[in-house]
Amino acid sequence: MAIRPYEIQWQGNCQIMLEKLIFEKSSPGRMAYSLPECDVSVKPIEELIPERFLRTETAELPEVAEIDVVRHFTRLSQLNYSVDTNFYPLGSCTMKYNPKVNEDVSGYDGFANLHPYQNQEQCQGILHILYEFEKIVAEICGMDTFTLQPAAGAHGEFIGMLISRAYHLKKGRKRIKIIIPDSAHGTNPASAAMCGFNIVEVKSNKQGLIDIEELKRNIDNDVAALMLTNPNTLGLFEKDILKIAEIVHDVDALLYLDGANMDALLGIARPGDMGIDILHLNLHKTFSTPHGGGGPGAGPLGVVKKLAPFLPAPRIVKKHGSYKWQCDLPDSIGRVKPFYGNIGVIIRAYAYLLSIGSEGLRRIGESALINANYLRKKISDYVEIPYGKKCMHEFVASTRKLKTNGITTLDIAKRLLDYGFHSPTIYFPLIVEDALMIEPTETETKETLDEFAEAIIKILEEAKNNPEILKNAPHTTPVSRLDEVQAARKPNLRWQKARG
Ligand SMILES: *Cc1c(COP(=O)(O)O)cnc(C)c1O
Repeated sequence: MAIRPYEIQWQGNCQIMLEKLIFEKSSPGRMAYSLPECDVSVKPIEELIPERFLRTETAELPEVAEIDVVRHFTRLSQLNYSVDTNFYPLGSCTMKYNPKVNEDVSGYDGFANLHPYQNQEQCQGILHILYEFEKIVAEICGMDTFTLQPAAGAHGEFIGMLISRAYHLKKGRKRIKIIIPDSAHGTNPASAAMCGFNIVEVKSNKQGLIDIEELKRNIDNDVAALMLTNPNTLGLFEKDILKIAEIVHDVDALLYLDGANMDALLGIARPGDMGIDILHLNLHKTFSTPHGGGGPGAGPLGVVKKLAPFLPAPRIVKKHGSYKWQCDLPDSIGRVKPFYGNIGVIIRAYAYLLSIGSEGLRRIGESALINANYLRKKISDYVEIPYGKKCMHEFVASTRKLKTNGITTLDIAKRLLDYGFHSPTIYFPLIVEDALMIEPTETETKETLDEFAEAIIKILEEAKNNPEILKNAPHTTPVSRLDEVQAARKPNLRWQKARG
């Protein structure tokens, strides 16, 4: 009996292919590949592997033809929505420009075969790169120095908070509060709370910016730092940043910048010039590592001079033309990561920065702004955009008016999949009801932006005239609307079924 490699199901009038398990395609004795006759003497496996490591039962492996293996995994790989196949306007955490060539560079043998336990003399090449990379990002951000140890943005925040605490303790005082605007990413209050700080939330004003008067009311000698995102999570530039810095510095508190939105400033403005004392970057957002790919990230942390002594140990120093780890740093908060961070991500970012240069950097910043404003303008007659007349690299729309038709933001997000687009970020930031946070990135062409705008406009029409089609969307994906909680808690791996 012929076994089809996938089941065909109909959802509405769309045909869906459900890939079968590779075990279901197994046929006893079938082999994908046969080895040539062995021309050296064959030893029994018991002589090669200690008995305790040997299996007692034969492994249950699928027996399939070579081409079926290739097709099975190729088809599975195509079930994934990816930035290499389609537009991905996921605000705040976007897949920005990730040139493949940088992936190639970070995989060079010389890097890939390095071992973290090799001694310093053998690692001068990579130490050179790390040292130079620290300097380049310091220049881009206008900071004095960087540590490359943090493994992610939130890790950078946490270390920034430890440094803030160390700074105040060194001055002989215990500061207990961190001020955070209500538009902040959830990791900000979480990182500060993990360091034992109390969080003071300041409300945004009608323009979606930090309310200066509210900030003044909350600032006092208990405040260790203000954590802010600029451009903020509404995609708006905090234009009063110099005033904010002054208010914070008046009580000798620190100004922390969540640099996840650095894309918008690249080559145009430098946080250091705005009075920022500490910031983290997300290399896996802004600097050529795909975000959300499941792989490691990196959240380098930059500081001004007065905070440099507190940076995590060890630090790389250059003496007489060679590089060394410096470990005797009495005020350091200590080590925060085994070895020296996620090196592969850093190499990718280094290759990227060298290849685009400062001219290219500015064009990235400018293109990100132009693309976001273009898209914003295109859809602004159709959907409410509560804050700002212009945006930076992203903007936040609200679909709350569609509630009267029973349509939720989630329905719109799901329907976009049928039009071939990944959904924007939804329900974040929290200060916008039914938020749809859109970030087109610097890479997309005008045609793609036009198509996306048209899809949004069509879906908004459907919401009025044919709400049912949104309620049941998506119709064209391998699986339709999932119960997201159940899907995470009780994933249906279909393995049990296959084994019967
Ligand atoms: C992504 C993001 C973070 C957290 O960064 P991770 O690298 O995911 O830990 C913090 N703040 C903002 C604004 C972000 O977009």
